[in-house]
Parts: sequence; structure tokens; C-alpha cells
Amino acid sequence: MAKKRLILGLALVVLISLGGVAGRLWYVSFNGLDKFSRYFFFSIGLVFLLFTAIALLGVVGVAISIFCHRPLPLFDRPVNVLITRLLPLTMWLGRLLHVTKEKLERSFIEINNALVRTRGVKVSPAKMLVLAPHCLQYSGCRFKITADINNCHHCGRCQVGDLIDLTQELGVNLAVVTGGTLARKKVRELSPEAIVAVACERDLSSGLQDVYPLPAFGVLNQRPNGPCVDTRVDLERLRQVIKTFTRSKAGTLGVS
Ligand code: SF4
Repeated sequence: MAKKRLILGLALVVLISLGGVAGRLWYVSFNGLDKFSRYFFFSIGLVFLLFTAIALLGVVGVAISIFCHRPLPLFDRPVNVLITRLLPLTMWLGRLLHVTKEKLERSFIEINNALVRTRGVKVSPAKMLVLAPHCLQYSGCRFKITADINNCHHCGRCQVGDLIDLTQELGVNLAVVTGGTLARKKVRELSPEAIVAVACERDLSSGLQDVYPLPAFGVLNQRPNGPCVDTRVDLERLRQVIKTFTRSKAGTLGVS
């Protein structure tokens, strides 16, 4: 919970600041301005106040939902505003306070994952997409698996072969992507109802925000050789996560 509190706490600080700006604008609008300026400052203050109120409901919704382990559909829109609009400001504040980017991104990923869990998502395997980064592929491998994953020769020099076996066994879709653009393309093509994404903090954090409100669970990759080179993933954990969000195998196989 400590990691989750980081983003929620920073979001509250941002909201208090925005509320302060709204109050200041209203104060200015009521003090000796001409009619036009008065309406202008009043309207801007109102926009700030409404945004603050909605995003605050989002923070409350996330906190209650995670605490009670259940989804709160009533808060869907405010949570959407919180994740898609307020989060960039929250990240910016965190950086200003010298919190590392990685810590902030991990905090967001934990909140996202907790929210997805509360929704009790269960989709058929054919509607599940596993997105994996191409840095999982052995850097010396000459086969172009991002174009077609069936190009993998299962030589065992990296985990891609095992990942293909795992997704085939569970009957879910798999796409190995080079970045956000290709990931978005795969999501558009396959129209999944749920996603399990493997990536580093940076890519997961931006990718999960991109696809929100589509339920997408993030699994951090392992980087024994540094970032973006011959990375790995805990396949057993990945298996458990996929099983958590899929119904029993329907026999449909989709690997792309
Ligand atoms: S397992 Fe597949 S992707 Fe990995 S090195 Fe071998 S052929 Fe290349």
C-alpha cells in the first residue's frame, strides 16, 4: 500500500494547489475588476474548481475501491479524469520533489493493477492479449519475431520460445512489440477485452494510461543485463496473472 499512497498523496497535493488557484481567481474576480474581467476570472476559477472536485472524487474512488477490494462504477468517470488528466501533473510534482521517476511509475502501476483486480475481470482466452517487449528476445537472434512471432525457432537462448508455448497452452493472444506505436496497433487489430502487458516501468506506465479504461494488468520485466537488452520475465507469475483474468481455455488459439 505504501507505493500506492505515493501517487494518491501527490495527487491530493496537486488538487489542494489547484483548489487554491481557483480560490485566488475568484478572489480576484470579486475585487475591483471591470465586468468583463470579473466574468473571465470567475469562469476560469469555476473550471479549475470543477476539475479539482471531479479529480478529488477520483482519488476518493480509487482509495475506497482498493481498500474495499471492490469496483465502484459510480466513480468510473472521476477515476478516468484522475488517470488520464491529473496523473501527468502528479508525476511532474513528484519529479519536482525529487522522487525518482521509477518510484512514481511503480506507484501508478500498483494502483492500476489493484484497480484491475477489484474489477474481477474474466475474459475468454481469445479476448486476452499478452503484450511483450521485443527486448525479451536474445539480442543476437537474427529472426524477426515482431513481424511474425512464428519466426522464433525455440532455440532456448531467450524466453520468447517459452512465452509462445505458455500463451499457446493457455490459448491467449501474444504480440511482441517494439514500442507503444506497435502495441497500440496490435490492440486495435485484436480488440482484446483484457491485456496483460510485460514491460519496464516507463513503458508500462504510459501504456496502461494509453489503453485506460480497458483492463490492462502490468507485469514488470527483469533486467539482469541493464535496460532494453536481453530482458526476462517471471513466466510463472505471468501464468498466474493470465489465469486470474481468463476463463478456462476455450480452445481458441491466436498468436500474432
Ligand atoms: S528463442 Fe526464438 S527469439 Fe529467442 S533467440 Fe531463440 S529463435 Fe530467437
